[in-house]
Formats: sequence, structure tokens, C-alpha cells
Amino acid sequence: MIKIHSIETFWAHEWPWIRVVFFTQWCLMKCLYCHNPDTIPLDGWKNYEVETLMQTVYKWKGYFWTKWWVTISGGECLLQAKELIPLFKRLKDEGFHTCLDTNGYIWSKDVEELLEYTDLVLLDIKHLHDPDHVEITWVSNKHTLDFANYLEKNNKKFWIRHVLVPNFTDDKEHLEDMWMYFKNFKNLERFEILPYHTLWVHKWENMWWEYKLSHVKSPTLEQQLSAKSILENYLQVVKIRG
Ligand code: SF4
Repeated sequence: MIKIHSIETFWAHEWPWIRVVFFTQWCLMKCLYCHNPDTIPLDGWKNYEVETLMQTVYKWKGYFWTKWWVTISGGECLLQAKELIPLFKRLKDEGFHTCLDTNGYIWSKDVEELLEYTDLVLLDIKHLHDPDHVEITWVSNKHTLDFANYLEKNNKKFWIRHVLVPNFTDDKEHLEDMWMYFKNFKNLERFEILPYHTLWVHKWENMWWEYKLSHVKSPTLEQQLSAKSILENYLQVVKIRG
């Protein structure tokens, strides 16, 4: 059984790809600007059998263009790596493209096995400097960076996703350290900048959790382009995702 928070059947954020996305429940981080805070606690999920999830994918198969794509996101999906292995095996056997959207904080033999059936990893890196990472997520980034290094050494294609938050993650020194750290990674296909926004604050309010960044504004277009140009010094594909 897989603990699922919600399902999106026509996800166009990776345009031009259309994907089915399964959002899993539970995460061990508690990021200051989490866009899905209701996926963090271990409650409120619905259990799904692999077969039921496969039926959902089949139902939408006709809407996919040239290839069929499925993403597991969260919460933190790797907390359920063992349960996801049979799902990804089925998806691969039947010709689907499989993608994991993760913070890279969890490691186990099951994660290693799950990666064998994964075509692409979207690795969410909140901050390269550990004290800042702890301030944002409450945990160290060591596991996340180890995860990135594992992907690189084992020829696993991945994208980095980085939320650009004014005065938290957008300073020049931090962005320069980012490209210096990753500039020789051959399996890093894309670096995505995700401009911070506050569209999800109501979710925090609904949970009666204090949202500590209400004073922080979204980065301006100029700030986004400045971050992009710094990263582009050494990283080949840098995109701003709307
Ligand atoms: S890692 Fe993702 S799901 Fe977990 S708290 Fe952070 S933003 Fe939320």
C-alpha cells in the first residue's frame, strides 16, 4: 500500500510534457515555504494499491502525446521507497517514463533499488550552505548532497530544482557556490529556478501553522534573470520555471 495525499492527472508544469503525478504523504523536513504543508504530517493520507494507481495512469494514457510520463512527488516520496518499487517496475515494464521528485534526504537499499527503475530525478536543493539549509528546512543538506553525488557517479540523469527566495537563497555568493559545486556534473541535465511565491500561504493558515515568511515578496523578473545569468556562467541549461 502506498500512502497518497493527492493525484494530479494532467500536470503540465514540465511543459511540453504532460504527466500523471502522485503526491505521497509525509516528509521529514519542514521547509519555511513548503508549498504542500498538508503533505508533511503522517496523517490524512489514503492508501492505494499499485494496481489502483496503474488504472489511473491507464485512464489518462490517451491524453499523452508521444510518450507516457509518471512522476512521484510529495511530501517526500522516498520515505515510501520500498512500496514504490513494484509500482515503478510495472511502469517501466509497460513503457512509461518514470520520474522521482525528491529532497534527497532519505537513503536506503530500497532507494537504491527504486533508482534502478527511475528515468529522471528532480532533486530539490534548498540551500548549498548547511547552516542556511538547516534554517530553511530544519535538517542538514549532507544527505541531499550525498544523493546528488550518488546520481552523478551512477549515471542517473537529474535536474536540480531551487526555489529563489529573496534574502534567503538568492545572494550572489550562494549562487556562485552552487555552480562551482555542480559545474562538472555530467548527469545534471537542467538547473531550474523556481521563483518563490506565496500562493500556498492559505494552506499553512488552514493548518493553524505560523507562516514565517509572510513579509517576503516574490523575486522580481530582474532578480530572477540575475540569478539565471550567474548560474549560466558554468551550467549549460538553466531555466526559470513559472
Ligand atoms: S521537502 Fe518539500 S514537501 Fe518536504 S517540507 Fe520541504 S517543500 Fe515541503
